[in-house]
Amino acid sequence: MAIFSISHSESGRKQLSLKSPVDLSHIDTYDCANSDEISAVMTQAKIAQSKWKQTTLKERVELMHRVADVVIQQQDRIMDVVMRETGKPVQEAMAMEVFSAVDSLVFYAKRAEKWLSDKKIKMHGPMRFLKKTIITYKPRGVVAVITPWNGPFILSINPVIQAILCGNSVIVKPSEVTPMSGAMVQEIFALADAPMHLVQTLIGDGETGAELISQGPDKVSFTGSVATGKKIAAKCGEMLIPFSLELGGKDAMIVCSDADVKDAASGAVVGSFMNAGQYCCGTERIYVMSDIYDEFVAEVVSITKSLVQSNDCKGDVGPTFWDKQIDIIEDHVNDAIAKGATVLAGGKRNPAFAGLYFEPTVMTEVTHEMKIMKDETFGPVICIMKVSSEDEALSLANQSHYGLNGNVWTKDLVKGQKLARSIETGACSVNDMAMSYGVNEVPFGGVKNSGLGVVNGKEGLLGYAHAMPIIIGKKSASAYPYTDKSFEQLQGALKIFWGNRIVRKIFG
Ligand code: NAD
Repeated sequence: MAIFSISHSESGRKQLSLKSPVDLSHIDTYDCANSDEISAVMTQAKIAQSKWKQTTLKERVELMHRVADVVIQQQDRIMDVVMRETGKPVQEAMAMEVFSAVDSLVFYAKRAEKWLSDKKIKMHGPMRFLKKTIITYKPRGVVAVITPWNGPFILSINPVIQAILCGNSVIVKPSEVTPMSGAMVQEIFALADAPMHLVQTLIGDGETGAELISQGPDKVSFTGSVATGKKIAAKCGEMLIPFSLELGGKDAMIVCSDADVKDAASGAVVGSFMNAGQYCCGTERIYVMSDIYDEFVAEVVSITKSLVQSNDCKGDVGPTFWDKQIDIIEDHVNDAIAKGATVLAGGKRNPAFAGLYFEPTVMTEVTHEMKIMKDETFGPVICIMKVSSEDEALSLANQSHYGLNGNVWTKDLVKGQKLARSIETGACSVNDMAMSYGVNEVPFGGVKNSGLGVVNGKEGLLGYAHAMPIIIGKKSASAYPYTDKSFEQLQGALKIFWGNRIVRKIFG
């Protein structure tokens, strides 16, 4: 029943055969890029980049607006391709893939000129009288964007937008589970009249991704699992290629006694079931104060039971996109049941469908001894634990080797912020499900095993450029020969500039 399988054609060509998670019907078979083709794509990307780096920021921004127009025009096609490969509800295809893509395009197009223009840097100390400095943002070259299957279009196009604005060319290696959704990015850029080979796609599996890195791109932007992230970090480390890693999570939700219980329950349901739980910042562990526990659990179960799971992309909760993932979900749920968890809703594959549907599930009496509270489940499962204090909730929330996102629910916003600051994650929301990937204003990146570096926001965008200082002066600041006089001048400057605190404030 594998969703994708690798085989070889009669001529020995490696091929990827894909099935629909909705009904396991055959979708298509694709050739995987071989080493020679990857090399050719790399050469074309270098040529395209050598021209693209000479464009003005205005021209790059203009391309982003054309791409935004094409995404809007092609929204149905994008959603169709994504839904064909994932079966996700149309509402999620629109919100996650199309709406977010246009939002990113417009957001970065508006700010790129300001963020990427040369910056004059005011020097401090004696240097301010001698030198001028500017920082110029140079493209890195060819960026390899390697992406997963859960947000197959948005997680591909979002890094591409940022890399292209910085003057790079891009090679996208989408997941083998959703190759055409990632490949749409190349098509969309072509329809927007992007220069030839500026954005290219390589179809293939992990070996294709590994070969792409072996061919020496100038930056790797990776989104995917911790296990692959570690392999990529090792390879990039060996080759000294800059990289960013956006990896998995096991996000915790803390519900305080003074939370709006209905609101928190609805946040728990959306945070856990959106994209059928296949969201890196999905809520995977919930810690609820004992005095509101019963009310919260009842509300969560009631909303869960009202949700529709259907195989027509019209329901609330769609399928798992990959058979390997549904096996993991099932294993985690069964492990929890065997160790004493109580299932209040769902708890098994949905027998009504031939495809990969796991019922929206609510479990209580869960413990940190269970896989479901330790490892990433990435499925439509809500796990709730009762706690007797906020300190206990925080301590349990931080008992994880992941640190991507989290969310805290309370009417006391000061307390909410305090708890959020104490959570060991890359980001945290107060009174909302973890939504930081969608907030373009802020950098997004995990701590602990959840990643290295950031994407998004000004910091993420600048990661696709090399900030190059150019220090300009009329003559050298310290010229040979060293003499007693030059030594005394230096000592004098030390006293004048740093000798008292008032002057330090002025020249520091
Ligand atoms: P994965 O690591 O299996 O694969 C991701 C991509 O890496 C695929 O394109 C794959 O072909 C490629 N790949 C595999 N081995 C490779 C290698 N050795 N060298 C180069 N490329 C290689 O991950 P997945 O199962 O596709 O995605 C699910 C994971 O992604 C989950 O853990 C999820 O939490 C995480 N994720 C993280 C974020 C984030 O922003 N932090 C966002 C979405 C998903």
